[in-house]
Amino acid sequence: MSKNALIIVDMLNDFIRPEGALYCGPAAEAIVPFIAERLEHYRNSSQAVIFLKDSHQPNDLEFDKFPRHCVAGTWGGRIIDELTPGPGETVIAKNRYSGFFNTNLAKVLRRLSPELVEVVGVCTSICVMDTVGGLANRDYRILVPRRGVADFDRQFHEFALKRMQQLYGAKIQ
Ligand SMILES: [Zn+2]
Repeated sequence: MSKNALIIVDMLNDFIRPEGALYCGPAAEAIVPFIAERLEHYRNSSQAVIFLKDSHQPNDLEFDKFPRHCVAGTWGGRIIDELTPGPGETVIAKNRYSGFFNTNLAKVLRRLSPELVEVVGVCTSICVMDTVGGLANRDYRILVPRRGVADFDRQFHEFALKRMQQLYGAKIQ
């Protein structure tokens, strides 16, 4: 059986919970059960799962653009309980939109050498799209399930799906 990898982007309290600092809205909460299902599928079939986690210092310059969120070590920066990483699963902290920026994601993927990379999480037009761009630059086959991604902005969501399909060659289904 071919081995794929699942990348779960930023399913963190600050983005997914209504009381979070940068809540992405009901659309973001609505994808949780779908992602939980995908996670279970990957675990049951011994395929790799990688969690990306926005993680900022309290004075991060990103806070010039967004309210303070996902500060390292806080509740807001934790992965939501429904998707808690299991032992041995890879969690990669990042402090910019792309999961590849200043992280070891490229190396982790090279080692796994997956047939296809499935990407789920938030936000479709920000960290998901930038990470998918990084995957496309490295020539991975990419799948983005519509039901597995969300954005606080509906139009940006649709635009990002289209752009990932047309420019990055991602399969959107
Ligand atoms: Zn951030």
